[in-house]
Amino acid sequence: MLTDSFNRNHDYLRISLTDKCNLRCTYCMPVDPPHGFYAGKNLMNAEEINRLAGIFVKLGVKKIRLTGGEPLIRKDVAQIIHLLSQYPVKLTLTTNGVFLDQFIEVFKQAGINSVNVSLDSLESNAFKIISQRDHFDKVMSNILLLLREGFHVKVNMVVLKELNHLEIIDFIQWTKEYPLHVRFIEYMPFRDNNWNHLQVFTAEEILSLASRKFNFYKLNDRPNDTARNFQVHDYKGTFAIISTMSDPFCSNCNRLRLTADGKMKNCLFSTGEVDLLSALRNQEDVEQLIRQCVWDKKAERGGQMDAAMEDLKADALMNRSMISIGG
Ligand code: SAM
Ligand code: SF4
Repeated sequence: MLTDSFNRNHDYLRISLTDKCNLRCTYCMPVDPPHGFYAGKNLMNAEEINRLAGIFVKLGVKKIRLTGGEPLIRKDVAQIIHLLSQYPVKLTLTTNGVFLDQFIEVFKQAGINSVNVSLDSLESNAFKIISQRDHFDKVMSNILLLLREGFHVKVNMVVLKELNHLEIIDFIQWTKEYPLHVRFIEYMPFRDNNWNHLQVFTAEEILSLASRKFNFYKLNDRPNDTARNFQVHDYKGTFAIISTMSDPFCSNCNRLRLTADGKMKNCLFSTGEVDLLSALRNQEDVEQLIRQCVWDKKAERGGQMDAAMEDLKADALMNRSMISIGG
């Protein structure tokens, strides 16, 4: 078991496969200075990912999520999925959805039955403004394809005040006929993403907006759920809110992260990282490094976001950009 000093057990590992992406979401990908992609030799190769994942599984990890960057642009992603599918874990991934249609069979063979797809707008123009790429139709058709193929689909929408927040209504309406699970995510600060608290549309505001139009009720949340879940009466799908900024959910956190260059982070907002890839290459005791990293986890949001959201100095936060952490 991977237990920290607050007695939280960690059985969920998120592995970033790359810090590259085919989209340029403004809230995620830094533009200035230009994003420095890691050189190939600094990245974990498929075998190294497999070996590190195996150590985490031995230590008690039961769920692995692949992320990025965009995980599906990595050339050997099918091989990685195949390797990790041999472990007794729930394997899943988070993707921007553009290449999903090419991986349906790979997922099925690996026993992946649940996929998170990011989609911040139901209008192609707004999608283009936010992602700076013109792939709305592709992402939408791939979400519908996943549903037809019987996958459990969660749609992640980052809510940006004055940009897409009114679309919350349309996203909830979408769950009337489709068994989708839409998750509204509060906008979070990361290195060079120009975060400003005025752009955060909070959980309270989301619920208030939704209640003007819908009659919904609270669902039971699963242990370790980061989202608070709701459903409109008689709708096929559900919606949820991830309130990292206004109401963090750290007390029951079970998540660990491995960046594409093999650094372990015990929290999305941790200031420190532990270089597992170098340790693996140097045949050092990776297991002990993992245990210590878990033990050192801070109580809440990496120990560096205690201030109220309005007083947060985003520029002073010590962290990577989101695209190089793996959300
Ligand atoms: N490329 C994949 C995708 O977009 O789903 C996986 C990587 S992305 C970094 C993972 C998730 O983080 C996405 O749902 C994305 O919307 C979310 N994300 C990125 N930057 C964020 C931010 N500043 N605040 C909140 N969520 C963010
Ligand atoms: Fe790429 Fe996902 Fe970041 Fe958008 S949110 S830039 S799709 S990694």
